[in-house]
Amino acid sequence: MELLVTGSGTAVPSVRRCAAGYSLAVAGQRLQIDSGPGTMRQLARFGIAPEQVDCLCYTHTHPDHVADLVPFLFASRYGQTEPRTRPLAVVGGRGFGAFLAAQQAVYGHWLEPDGFALHLHELATDGADRWAGDGFCIASRPMRHIATSVGLRVEEVATGRSICFSGDTEFTDELVRLAAGTDLLVCECANPEAAPMAGHLIPSQAGRIAAASGCKALLLTHFYPPCDEADLITPLRRHYAGPLMLAEDGLRVVV
Ligand SMILES: [Zn+2]
Ligand SMILES: [Zn+2]
Repeated sequence: MELLVTGSGTAVPSVRRCAAGYSLAVAGQRLQIDSGPGTMRQLARFGIAPEQVDCLCYTHTHPDHVADLVPFLFASRYGQTEPRTRPLAVVGGRGFGAFLAAQQAVYGHWLEPDGFALHLHELATDGADRWAGDGFCIASRPMRHIATSVGLRVEEVATGRSICFSGDTEFTDELVRLAAGTDLLVCECANPEAAPMAGHLIPSQAGRIAAASGCKALLLTHFYPPCDEADLITPLRRHYAGPLMLAEDGLRVVV
């Protein structure tokens, strides 16, 4: 599996950090986990055409995670490259179908799939769930952020490797369970230790979750600008001693 960080940032416009997004090559498929504003341009920057993406997966419907769903669907219909024919899976928490339908109600036929099938899969937001893709599985658990938030764990069937995405969340044992033994935990750390924010994690909490989960490596991400001026590592290291990376746009991690 190869992870490419398309966006290590948040709602704050930033040259350094695009809003949330991760491109994942797994079992010959390409998944996009979240697509905040700017994701389409990031994919172009990294040479990934929309028609190469087999599956869009969403942790929740905050705009910094989902805004580029609209331009993705528009480009899939009116892109100047090869027209899309391969099916598109869209995976999100319960209620994502209603969110998608609302977008289509606003934009009308411009967002309707043309020449390809769109398959929607909703995951439970009140307990653990699982969806089987082609050569991979996505396990999910509810996170503590908004009602429709889910953490996602992508597992490659042939290798048994996995990458777990927290999405946005406060501290929750559900993330410890979802990330248990995973090869890479991609964990939000939106704010520095001295400035916690409701609905998000600070470094010591990310460290506690990583240690309790037994993940084999930790990638911190979703940094509001104060994170770039603060020491995230010292408070985290009081809890977690394993391999640690801080996300930047364009970072690639092979698992
Ligand atoms: Zn966010
Ligand atoms: Zn959010």
